[in-house]
Amino acid sequence: MKKRLFTPGPTPVPEDILLEMSGPIIHHRTAEFRRIAEEVQDNLKYLFQTKNPVITLASSGTGAMEAAVSNILSSGEKAVVVKGGKFGERFAEICSSYGVDVIPLDVEWGKAVKPASIEEILNKEKEIKAVFTTLCETSTGVLNDVEAIGKIVESSDTVLIVDAVSSLGAVPCQTDAWNLDVVISGSQKALMLPPGLSFISVSKKAWRKIENTNSSRYYLDLRKYHKSLEKSDFPFTPAVSLIVGLRKSLTQIREEGIENVLQRHKILAAATRAAIKALGLELFAEKPADSLTAVKVPEGIDSQELIKRLKEKYGVNFAGGQNELKGKIFRIAHLGYFDKLDIITAIAALEMVLSELGHKFELGSGIKAAERILTQES
Ligand SMILES: *Cc1c(COP(=O)(O)O)cnc(C)c1O
Repeated sequence: MKKRLFTPGPTPVPEDILLEMSGPIIHHRTAEFRRIAEEVQDNLKYLFQTKNPVITLASSGTGAMEAAVSNILSSGEKAVVVKGGKFGERFAEICSSYGVDVIPLDVEWGKAVKPASIEEILNKEKEIKAVFTTLCETSTGVLNDVEAIGKIVESSDTVLIVDAVSSLGAVPCQTDAWNLDVVISGSQKALMLPPGLSFISVSKKAWRKIENTNSSRYYLDLRKYHKSLEKSDFPFTPAVSLIVGLRKSLTQIREEGIENVLQRHKILAAATRAAIKALGLELFAEKPADSLTAVKVPEGIDSQELIKRLKEKYGVNFAGGQNELKGKIFRIAHLGYFDKLDIITAIAALEMVLSELGHKFELGSGIKAAERILTQES
């Protein structure tokens, strides 16, 4: 059976990238590898839309989240953390484990943060050193307006840290133009790579803070990576094969053009949402991101059974809900290596299983709604 990943990480990897990574290992302290590192750095800046250095770590996305916390904040310092889903909560947990004084901004799961509520806290509480938020909160499918948050922190010393792990390369994220001091991403989402790399861009304002932080760090000390980066080098052995793959995926993104990549995601997301509504289902996110579609499980349908049947009968992998959303939503990812026919496949499988489970709708209505959108847009 063909296996098809529609999960918001890991995502499918193009065959030519898989082949690229299967070559013999190159030693990392060579001119050959440095040339690759240089090219990767240049294309990462293009993807992040930044002039700042982008550091590549050998870790999943959470490693870069931890690096942001441990490098930017000293124990006892105050930070606002937007908690509107699992990944916002993860930032709060990391902060707490480093002794950071967390001021939680609780947002109902499924809703986006109101930038004005961040402004309110910053006006009321003094000495807030950082604000942490997700761009796309993958657990709920919500898109947060980080551009507006960037405007709020711009004129202050407060550093804005954005988790764009499921956003970069899928939804607009203009690091420099929006004053995003630290932007984090990972390889296994829109970058079309296996898990194992994380990325973190750091602004001048954030570097100034990093130089004055006294929390413990060693492997994830960003100052070490920054220093090495000047020589297109790494302080420790990098994940060589993944970086070779990264070179290829970034080249593909650049050749397609970031605007076109984002437009493709926009169309696929619109088609998926239209199909969901046509099937009589409801979207979970109030303001959905184009990375994935979170869907409320309809009355009378067992979400675990739905996900299990999709996988066992059709090889289609959807993600369920996490934490408090377990059993309440399922999530269809369309970030990274996805095209129009992938969406048709996902919707067709969903229709067949929903029909088996007794959900009332007209077979083909979801596909029809999706095709209407997919054919309208070039
Ligand atoms: C996937 C993801 C992460 C990183 O998770 P890892 O399992 O550590 O790669 C972080 N934030 C968001 C929003 C994500 O979607």
